[in-house]
Amino acid sequence: MSAAALPASVPAAASPVPPSHAVPGPQTPEAYQAELALQLEKLRELLGTYLKPEDIDRVADAFLFSADAHKGQFRISGAPYFSHPLAVAGILTGWHLDAQALCAALLHDVAEDTDITLATLNERFGKVTAELVDGVSKLDKIEFQSVKVAQAENFRKMLLAMARDVRVILIKLADRLHNMRTLETLRPDKRRRIARETLDIYAPIANRLGLNTLYRELQELGFKHLYPLRYRVLSKAVKAARGNRREVVGKILNNIKARLAEAKIEAEVMGREKHLYGIYRKMRGKSLSFSEVLDIYGFRVIVKDVPTCYLTLGVLHGLYKPVPGKFKDYIAIPKGNGYKSLHSTLIGPYGTPVEAQIRTTEMHHIAEAGVASHWLYKDSGSAFSELQQMTHNWLQSLLELQSASGDPAEFLEHVKIDLFPSEVFVFTPAGKILSLPRGATAVDFAYAVHTDIGNRCVACRINQELTPLRAELKSGDQVEIIVAAHANPNPAWLSYVKTARARSQIRYFLKTMQQGESARLGERLVQQAFADLNTSVDAVSEASWEKMLRECGAKTREEVMTDVGLGKRLAPVLVRRLLLFGDTQPGEARAAGPVSIRGSEGMAVELARCCRPIPGDPVIGLIKKGQGLIVHAFDCPHIAKSRSQEAGKWLDVEWAPESGRIFDTRIRVVAQNAPGVLAKIAGSIAEADSNILNVSMDEERDTCTTLYFTLQVADRVHLANIMRALRHIPEVVRISRARE
Ligand code: MN
Repeated sequence: MSAAALPASVPAAASPVPPSHAVPGPQTPEAYQAELALQLEKLRELLGTYLKPEDIDRVADAFLFSADAHKGQFRISGAPYFSHPLAVAGILTGWHLDAQALCAALLHDVAEDTDITLATLNERFGKVTAELVDGVSKLDKIEFQSVKVAQAENFRKMLLAMARDVRVILIKLADRLHNMRTLETLRPDKRRRIARETLDIYAPIANRLGLNTLYRELQELGFKHLYPLRYRVLSKAVKAARGNRREVVGKILNNIKARLAEAKIEAEVMGREKHLYGIYRKMRGKSLSFSEVLDIYGFRVIVKDVPTCYLTLGVLHGLYKPVPGKFKDYIAIPKGNGYKSLHSTLIGPYGTPVEAQIRTTEMHHIAEAGVASHWLYKDSGSAFSELQQMTHNWLQSLLELQSASGDPAEFLEHVKIDLFPSEVFVFTPAGKILSLPRGATAVDFAYAVHTDIGNRCVACRINQELTPLRAELKSGDQVEIIVAAHANPNPAWLSYVKTARARSQIRYFLKTMQQGESARLGERLVQQAFADLNTSVDAVSEASWEKMLRECGAKTREEVMTDVGLGKRLAPVLVRRLLLFGDTQPGEARAAGPVSIRGSEGMAVELARCCRPIPGDPVIGLIKKGQGLIVHAFDCPHIAKSRSQEAGKWLDVEWAPESGRIFDTRIRVVAQNAPGVLAKIAGSIAEADSNILNVSMDEERDTCTTLYFTLQVADRVHLANIMRALRHIPEVVRISRARE
């Protein structure tokens, strides 16, 4: 790339080592040794400007160690391998990074590509350097996994490394920059992959850290290698246009300088060249023509302090009229990565738009080097711990600005770095963003939106697809909760919700619900016991009830009913005693009607897990002490023995008419082994408006497979419809309800 096409390259210019081709390919060992000695001398000289002598010696030691370890290894370009770590270290000296980081940069590929272990590095160069090397090689390793999965993981690890030590990221970014600068030697497909990765991942990371010079160069190189043709065309056009621009730029520059001098403002004024990728993106993003984009002239004014920034702005607005609505005060409200400046668009001579940036020297340093400016521009006095504190504060402010910034959606979409390893961000249907702890489910989401939504949720759609409520949410998911008027929280949710809010709301609901539900069931059981004796609850006097409460040690009638509902007290016994207190003679026994039940699983009424009855199935109930009523299917094989031996314990029950609830049930499907069968079955089930909660499979036998589906259905009719639809699939051999 020509230097002209790449306007900003501060670290590169400061590098003691020119790009890798400066280290010639295979040569005589003597010549190579001489070359190395020369490089080391240059490095020492450069480090002398900012490091202490003993630190320079440590870096020199790492230099020799790495050169020796990589001896005999070559890059694809034919250059000795050591030219790469040396160039990476060179980039880092551009940011004035400390000796530990420089040693790690020199050694960053040693642990991976040679047989030297981390333990050796630890012993020889200290714990910090070894840890930095380890951090970098961990990031390297992740890249070699399959692309998509690897990337999410990649970001996470990057963050962990970053949280621990931002120098790992700086080394990794320098490593990527050098690889991008020497990308020509790779195969075109590899080149494109790396270029895309650079644009998608590394350039945005550099941007987040405020490393703008690096950010621009990574973008420029990424653009060049991802779209070589567009790059060439654009670069030619820019060169051709530059001649015409020179005159205009010179004129504006002189006008600004003269006016600032009149106002007695000391300032450095410079024209800004747009970089190609910026032009390209503006053309694409705003559908502008090349000349529309290029006809904007950029200027930067650097002054000594903040008040002068605003004075300068006033002067410029006096010189050229500002374009309304184009003024941005990034000093009062800095950008997410710490960037500060005043931006204004003015109408220059010949009516051309002029973009002005006004900032202080310090802001300029931060704008160019971001997080690295702490190393680069530290005052000679500040101790290292202070420096770490500053870096820490920087990262902290990034996180804070991020969570407060208005558009996390865009952030997630474009930046793809996980700055929050412990949180996920999801969208409500209205586009609002909720932050939930990692591992949170749709139920957590529902309770986060509103307690009522949580209490009534029955299903959810994630990214428009019906998904089980327990599915873990991922950042960027759009979540829609489906509620039903009569739905209640399911105790099973407690096993997977992540938020304290959801947990406590479910618990609270179940506790109050369980009492109410048990009391109602108790009431029904007592009514039935009265009916069995051909009398009614009206036959019992207030006095008899008082007596009964005393005997039970209960305060209210409801307490007694709850005990009956929970099976702690038997309804027939209670009723007989009540009648005895009042000396009422029980009438003739008559046939009892069934107890009506509602399918509130997990409450006082529980639907047996073995047969999973659904409304419409003939059912029978059993009161279990402390649990309440367990409802089984009439033909459940599990209860056959108990029903014949303890027939008296069983209770006739029937379904109460009810709508809006969903029940889980299982079916067994035997199907021929053919491609796409499972998809066909799943498709039919979805078409019949059901939701698959779980699929399992028996061992394949010969030509058939047995599949078990746990489905959500409204009732028996709904299930019959599903089964009928499945029978139409030619490969389905047999189909039945499944009982455990
Ligand atoms: Mn490397």
